[in-house]
Amino acid sequence: MAAFGSVFMPEMALASFENNQWTDASIVSADSISLHPGAHVLHYSSTCFEGLKAFRHEDGSVHVFRMDQNVKRFAQSSKLLALPELDNEQVTQMIKDIVAKYAQDVPLPPGSMYIRPTHIGTEAAVGKAAAPSLTSMVYVLLSPVGDYFAGGSKALRLLLDETGQRCAPHMGMIKSGGNYASALAPTLEAKQQYQADQILFCPNGYITETGAANFLLVDGNEIITKALDSTFLHGVTRSSILTIAEDLGMTVSEREISVEELLERAAKPGTEAMLSGTAAVLTSVGTFIHNGEDIKVGSGEEGPIANKLRQALNDIQWGKAPDTHNWLTKIA
Ligand SMILES: *Cc1c(COP(=O)(O)O)cnc(C)c1O
Repeated sequence: MAAFGSVFMPEMALASFENNQWTDASIVSADSISLHPGAHVLHYSSTCFEGLKAFRHEDGSVHVFRMDQNVKRFAQSSKLLALPELDNEQVTQMIKDIVAKYAQDVPLPPGSMYIRPTHIGTEAAVGKAAAPSLTSMVYVLLSPVGDYFAGGSKALRLLLDETGQRCAPHMGMIKSGGNYASALAPTLEAKQQYQADQILFCPNGYITETGAANFLLVDGNEIITKALDSTFLHGVTRSSILTIAEDLGMTVSEREISVEELLERAAKPGTEAMLSGTAAVLTSVGTFIHNGEDIKVGSGEEGPIANKLRQALNDIQWGKAPDTHNWLTKIA
C-alpha cells in the first residue's frame, strides 16, 4: 500500500494574497502552482500548514472533524509567522468545496481523506530575510489515506532527550515546516543509535512532545498531559482525547511532568503512555530509552485505555457514536 500522504487527489482549492487582498478561491490542478525560485518560502521558510480529516459514515455521508479548530490554528500560525492574515471564512469554504468535489473518493473507515491546507510566502525577494512576504498562497490538498496501522500497530520506543529541543521554544505552537526540519537530524540519530521510533523532547527535564505528536500519560483513572503554553503544538487530537476522557469519567490533569516522575510512574503496572495526532490518532508507547537503558511502560505493550480512548474517538468520527460536542461538519 502507498505510504501515508503520498497519493493526492488531482485538484486542490487555491487562493492568493496579492495587492493586499485575497483573490477569489478556485479549484485548480493539484500540480499547477508555479513559484519564482526566489520566493520567500523557499529561502526564509514562511510556511505553515494544517492536517485534518474527512470521514465517510455508513450512510455514505461525509464529515470533516473539528474544522473550526484547525482553521483557527492555521490563522494563528500564519499570524505568528507574519504571513498575510487569513480569511478564516474563505479557508473554511475552500476546505468544504474541495472535500465536496471529491466526496466520492473519501475512503470508508478505517480510511479517511486527509486534508492539508498550506500557506506559503510567495514574494520573490531574497533580500527579505528580516521582512515578511507581501504576497502568499493558500492551497488545500487532499490525500486519501488507508488504515494507518495496516500491518499491525505496535507500542513505540521513545528516546527521552533532556538536552535537545524539538524547535526554538517561541516557534513551538506554530505548525511550520522549519520545526520538522529542526527535529529531523536528532530523530534520525535516535533511530540509528537506539532503534527509537521518536524522541520525546524533555528540555530541562520536563516533557514537551515528539517531532509531530503530543504526549499523554495514563495512571489508573487519571490522564496527565502538559498544560498548554506557547512552547509546543496544541493538538486537536490532544484536546479531543482529554474531552472524551472526561466524558468517560477520568480525571484530567494538565500540568508539567518531569522525566523523574515519568520514570517513576512508568515502572508501575497499569501505567500507559501514548502519542496523539491526526494521522495516527492515538498510539501506545511501550518503552522509554533513558541514559542508554530500556524502561518498559507498564506492560510494555499496547494499553487497554489507549484502545478505549482511540475507539471512542473513532466512533464519533465514523458516525457510530453521537457527536455530542458538535465536532463534525457534514459536507456531503
Ligand atoms: C500536528 C502536530 C501535533 C498533533 O496535532 P493534531 O491537531 O492532533 O493533529 C502535535 N505535535 C506537533 C509538533 C504537530 O505538528
